[in-house]
Amino acid sequence: MGSMFREDISDSKRFVITMELVPGEQSKGRSVDTVMSIADAALSDGRISAVSITDNPGGHPSLSPDVLGKEIVNMGMDVIVHFTCRDQNRVGIESRALQLGRLGIKNILALTGDFSGKGFAGQGAPVFDLESVSLLTMLKMMDEGTLTRGDREDFFVGCAVSPFKRTEEESLCQYFKLRKKVRASARFVITQVGYDVRKFHELLCVQRDWQMKVPTLGSVYVLTPTVARIMTEGKVPGVVVTPALLKTIQQEWKEKSNGRTATIERSARLAVVLKGLGYKGVHFGGIHKRFETLSRILDRMGRIEKRWRDFVPEFDFPHENGFNLYARDPANGLCSKKMNNRMSETSPVDKALFQTYRTIHRAFFSHDAPFAPLYSDLCARLEKSPFGYLLVKTAEDISKKALFSCRECGDCGIQHLAFFCPESQCPKHTRNGPCGGSRNGMCEVHPERRCVWFRAYRRWASIDESDRMSHDFVPPRNWELNRTSSWINFHLGKDHQGAPFVTSKG
Ligand code: SF4
Repeated sequence: MGSMFREDISDSKRFVITMELVPGEQSKGRSVDTVMSIADAALSDGRISAVSITDNPGGHPSLSPDVLGKEIVNMGMDVIVHFTCRDQNRVGIESRALQLGRLGIKNILALTGDFSGKGFAGQGAPVFDLESVSLLTMLKMMDEGTLTRGDREDFFVGCAVSPFKRTEEESLCQYFKLRKKVRASARFVITQVGYDVRKFHELLCVQRDWQMKVPTLGSVYVLTPTVARIMTEGKVPGVVVTPALLKTIQQEWKEKSNGRTATIERSARLAVVLKGLGYKGVHFGGIHKRFETLSRILDRMGRIEKRWRDFVPEFDFPHENGFNLYARDPANGLCSKKMNNRMSETSPVDKALFQTYRTIHRAFFSHDAPFAPLYSDLCARLEKSPFGYLLVKTAEDISKKALFSCRECGDCGIQHLAFFCPESQCPKHTRNGPCGGSRNGMCEVHPERRCVWFRAYRRWASIDESDRMSHDFVPPRNWELNRTSSWINFHLGKDHQGAPFVTSKG
């Protein structure tokens, strides 16, 4: 066996290099041969701690990372498997985790995942029964042996973060969610792709200031003009390549060999800058044909490493009018220790509506409210009376459909989302924070709509309580309660706020 990712990333002296492999829509043939030959070359090279394997990237069907991962592990190369929540419900996810344990694949990158793409006979059903934070929590319970009846697993689970968001709302939401992921035992972090060094630095500053010291790998994508254009058009969720960078790349590639050299140089320079800033390692993407490209980048890194400060100004591709959490340090263009003001506000009408919802919610849906025992008693009686139950359920449906576009999940989570419904307003039904796919404040799936987490942040910010978005883990909805009264469920302690955490142990 070559390098072991877990050991390498825990070694304080080691700078870790990983590389992403993307399986194709074939079980044999050229795409599989290419992936296997890159993995083989990476093993022979000896500088790569692990290859990561994507999980149906873009939501399109491709060869399972688990089966490829097993073959690559057998070859002697360590593997990180991407694990998304798009294609399976929690039962399928738990079963897949057991499968990975059995296969001996322990490194997992827990992701919510891109939205569903097209497969047999059209677009697939988006499942998103769990999202990244609940997936991390589930894997942690499997590690501790508190979820399944089997042996304790020994997973090494990490997560992703997108520091390259343009707006205050999205940036802070990403960091709040990262805090939840770290609390849910994320052992390593891999960033999304971007070319704004101040944002790369911002993430490290947030980790320092919010005490989230988790080894973090910065992503470096080996860009060609075609891929850069696709990324600039926003077709790869979460990835940011600005028009200015695209223009530079297109100029460089007017002559192909010049373009290739420039790409290798840019990748090596960004990698050494990340090392200089304090990243634990670099995660390379965009190596789809030959390992040789990465080998040249790594060689070049060795030669230019000491000059990393000189290259910092070259990675100044921010969003136009983009938000930064820290003021710019004029000495080096990175983050200073001074925080910028947060300016996010919602409209006075929306603020008033939000406060009204909060007041009502506190009065009727708090276990500490003065009349809570009375409501519980009443609900216990209503539950036994078919007519009474129907009456409450009808009143709940009419009011909540009108106000929140309620989908009758029976396990209400609006209070965690500033009184927006996670079932109707988020296509991925996230309850712990946004996915990484929003762009300029708009939803990945419905780009004409604001991301619901952006709107929720504005509401919390309007009362200066945005930080509460990073507080508690919100369990996934319990499907046993589907189409039942969430009001009655709450008062009888049956929903996620009252019931003991349900596990497959029963
Ligand atoms: S009960 Fe469920 S579906 Fe209805 S508003 Fe609450 S979270 Fe949304």
